Amino acid sequence: MIEISHLVKRYGAKFAVDDISFSVGKGEIVGFLGPNGAGKSTTMNILTGYLSSTSGTVKVGGIDVLESPYEAKKLIGFLPEQPPLYVDMKVDEYLNFVYDLKKCTLNREKHLKEVCEVTKIADVRGRLIKNLSKGYRQRVGIAQALVGNPKVLIFDEPTVGLDPKQIIEIRNLIRNLGSDHTVILSTHILPEVQAVADRIVIINQGKIVADEKTENITRVVEDGRLYSVKICGPQREVLATLKGIPGVLRADAVGERELDSFTYHIESEPGVDVRKSLFFALAAKNWPILGLEAVGMSLEDVFVKLMEADTKKKMAGERRNRA
Ligand code: ADP
Repeated sequence: MIEISHLVKRYGAKFAVDDISFSVGKGEIVGFLGPNGAGKSTTMNILTGYLSSTSGTVKVGGIDVLESPYEAKKLIGFLPEQPPLYVDMKVDEYLNFVYDLKKCTLNREKHLKEVCEVTKIADVRGRLIKNLSKGYRQRVGIAQALVGNPKVLIFDEPTVGLDPKQIIEIRNLIRNLGSDHTVILSTHILPEVQAVADRIVIINQGKIVADEKTENITRVVEDGRLYSVKICGPQREVLATLKGIPGVLRADAVGERELDSFTYHIESEPGVDVRKSLFFALAAKNWPILGLEAVGMSLEDVFVKLMEADTKKKMAGERRNRA
């Protein structure tokens, strides 16, 4: 449904997008993940016809976005990072305005009613957009993307600035939309794509560094578990004990001190749960554990893990070839 081929966008000497290719099949939800400045918005803006590329092709439903932007745009609903809301309009006025702008031919009343029901904004249709909460505004942004019933939906950082409850609601909404749309969700938040996407394409510094099923990425990321532990005891001895626990791959003091306790980060070997051994080893020394929590990986950690996994795979392949 979406085909991006050797796409390049250059600003002067800087490559915002540097020769990326990937495709998204009909009905797939793909997460487009990368740190800030990776090139996500640039790619999304080219894909939706808002920005020209330096070279490469982008096709949506077989239509070249650069050659036939008008036809291609009809297939796409886009929620940019800054939704194009007219805050002095009422929700209803705004959606009618979008309906006219998109030259929509579906039954106006029935279609807009459906869009409002799906995005759960039916109760605020008569309200001014500027008086809505951020969560509701984001839903109105999603509603404008749905007007015209486009087959492809593109969401750029849809949950930025929302509170945790609103984040869950928007993620659920996107997941539900995925049942009858092709969806690209662009974000810098790993758990977001893990929660929503079937596949994850990771971009860093304008280049694609991974394109994998979500479960494969999750496996790589969760393989080595990372914990933050606060322990009451002498730092150097505690650290030596931690490093001696079977299954502990790495232990570092992270420098946070609270009276006589310190915080440590521990990484365990793949598939080994070190928490019980940790407890008994420290209890034997009379060093109480004041806190233990799993630490989510940063995107940078994820890149390192993916590179390691990729190198291991390649080495295994080479060994097989030699055998
Ligand atoms: P992301 O959406 O992943 O945060 P962007 O696509 O916004 O990343 O930006 C990718 C890179 O391109 C960044 O280094 C950014 O500074 C640069 N960039 C984006 N837009 C422009 C522009 N109009 N002029 C110059 N550089 C730009």
